[in-house]
Parts: sequence; structure tokens; C-alpha cells
Amino acid sequence: MTKIDLDELVENLMQCRRCGICRDAVYEDKGFDGVCPVWKSSAGFETNFMRGRIQVALALLDGTLEKTAENAEALFTCTLCGNCTEICAAEFDPAECLEKVRAVMRDIPNEVRDTITERVMHYDNPYDDNKHLKRDWVKEVGFEIPAKGEILYFTGCTSSMRLPNVAVSTARILKAAHIDFAVLENESCCGSVMLRTGMTVEAERNARKLVESIRSSGAKKILVTCAGCLKTLREDYPKLGFNLPETLHVTEELQAIVRGRKLKLNSLGKGLRITYHDPCHLSGKLSIYDEPREIIMAIPEIELVEMQTTRETAMCCGAGGGLRSYDPELSKKIAADRVRSAEHVKADMIATSCPFCEHNLKAGAELTRSTIRIVDVVELLAESIE
Ligand code: SF4
Ligand code: SF4
Repeated sequence: MTKIDLDELVENLMQCRRCGICRDAVYEDKGFDGVCPVWKSSAGFETNFMRGRIQVALALLDGTLEKTAENAEALFTCTLCGNCTEICAAEFDPAECLEKVRAVMRDIPNEVRDTITERVMHYDNPYDDNKHLKRDWVKEVGFEIPAKGEILYFTGCTSSMRLPNVAVSTARILKAAHIDFAVLENESCCGSVMLRTGMTVEAERNARKLVESIRSSGAKKILVTCAGCLKTLREDYPKLGFNLPETLHVTEELQAIVRGRKLKLNSLGKGLRITYHDPCHLSGKLSIYDEPREIIMAIPEIELVEMQTTRETAMCCGAGGGLRSYDPELSKKIAADRVRSAEHVKADMIATSCPFCEHNLKAGAELTRSTIRIVDVVELLAESIE
């Protein structure tokens, strides 16, 4: 594990100019409609956005503030969406710093974080489900999927245990495109939630186990449907000292398939208005914005409409950074706000490329009693080829 340099971390946090732009600046040319999703959906205290969180972090680090769960709340009511980083003009990455502060402050009690970590370490998923159910979705696809092969589909806990249709759709599309692929027999969690909440020691132990099973599967390329899994495997694992084979989001692979017209796509209805929600984990360095949009646009007669905030400045769905578990009500309120943005542009459907976003946006739609349909791009594509 890369050791966190405490002095460097404090020095970085001190870069904050306390300008407050990361609270609610509106820059129409950049597509910002407010910046912080938590600020927008909460009571509006200073600690509900990055400027306040940084002051709390510095006070906890220098001992001015006692290290209690209550005092550390501001560290955890953040989705780590990175919108503050996008807009901040100071010489540091506030969202990345906050993630490091969580790791440094791991001794501060946090029941939710500890429960999730225990589940991942014991049951290979954060949902407390029987890990043997993880490959159950394979029964739905109608063909055999081997456990070893050169192309590995890493399903991820949310696709396999909460939204199996994402996994089933992916498998059917790959089969239709004549791509042979494998799915691990016992797939561990990628450990994203542990990395995001500061449990880096456990995350590294978990990663070692997963990397070993990926190696023994013979994989030369990994395809992933979850944006959080992708960021973890592609960006974080090398920092932990683990190098995996080429790891792609499934939309990166499917873009080439769609461009090569390898699939016959049928209309899903004339004039269907679809808006695309950019998952935060596909933003930043990964910058996967065009691939999913190109796939949507390849489906005949679809009209793609953009919400007010899109791509690198898109508002978060509210699920990330452990917030969905730490404060489910706040997380759903943020999702409801995103659903309202989609309704504002009169979209019939929200498509996204992350099962965790889909899951939370559905909760947001339920909260606002919205009837808008929420799907993954792979579900849409699979419907179009059926
Ligand atoms: S984090 Fe950046 S944008 Fe926010 S108050 Fe500090 S300097 Fe300003
Ligand atoms: S990372 Fe996102 S949720 Fe967290 S403070 Fe920054 S803008 Fe707000």
C-alpha cells in the first residue's frame, strides 16, 4: 500500500483558499448547476460541502477537534464525486485528499464502514448475501459460461446480486457479437467501498485474493460493467502494486462492436427520448463519456437529450463514497434531484453505465414517485438486438 505522507496531506489541505466556489457556483459555460450534490440536498451547513469538510479534516488531524464519530461526520457525508475537484482552482485535489483523510482517520469509530468491511472480507460482497448466489444470474442467460478464458467478464457485486439483468444483458450482447468470455467461479468484491472509506489495509488483502483468482483464470483482457469496479481495478490496483491485464469498461468494448456494425439493432420506439447519466467513476482520468452515448445513438430512432449538467460536471447519483450506506436518506434525495433533472428535459428514460447508479436512481425515482424508466446502456442494447 502506498503510504500516505501526513505532512504532504496537511500541506495539500492547506491549499484551500476558502473561496467557497465548490459550494454552489453556477457556470453555465461549464455546465455547472451548483457544484456539490450534498450541499444541494442537505440543510446547507458549512460542513455539507468541501470547504467545511477540509476545515474539519484539518482540525481532526491537528487534534483541535476530538476524534469522535460525531465530529468526523463531515468526512463521510460526501460521495467523492469530484465536482469540487473539477471546479477548484487551487493546486490540490480536494476529493482525493478527503479519501486519504478517511484512511488516516480509520481509528475513528464508524459502524457502517466497519460492517461493510466485515461483509466484504467474509462474504465477498458488501450486501451480506450468500456469496454462492453470485453466479446465479448465469442460469438466466440460456448458455454455459466457462470459469476460465482469455476474456473475463468481471460482473461486480451490484450487477450480480442486485441488478442481474445488467449481467444477463452483457452476456447476451457478447454472445451475439461472437465474443467468447468467462466469468470467475468465485468472484470476490473489487473492494471499491473499502478503498473509498479508508479501509486500505483490508482492501489490499482483498485485492491480493482477487488478483490471484483472475490470474488463474487465464484472463488476458477484463471487461467490467460497474464504473466503481473499473476505477478500482484500473486506477487503484496498480497503486496497490497489482497489475492486471487490460481492463475495459464494457462500453469501451461495445463501441467498437457497434461501429463495426456487428450487431443488428432494432428500434425501441420512434422518438424515444433518452438522457444519459454519467457515473462519477467514469469521469476524471477515465473520461468515458462518448462511448456510452455512441452506443445509445446507434439504436435506430432514439433521440439523445442531455441534462443540464453532463460529462465531467454531471451531478452525482448520490450513491458513491459510501454515502448510500452511511446516510441512505440523503443519498436518495440526491438521486431524486438527478431524476428531476432528467424529467426537466422531458426524457422518457435515463440510461447509465453503472449498476450502482442505476440502483440509486431507481430509489430516487421511487422517492419522487416518478415513472421514468432507468436502465443500463447494456440493457438497452440487449433489448434492441432481441
Ligand atoms: S476546495 Fe477549492 S473551491 Fe473549495 S473552498 Fe477550497 S479552494 Fe475554494
Ligand atoms: S466530492 Fe462531491 S459530494 Fe464531496 S464535497 Fe466534493 S462536490 Fe461535494
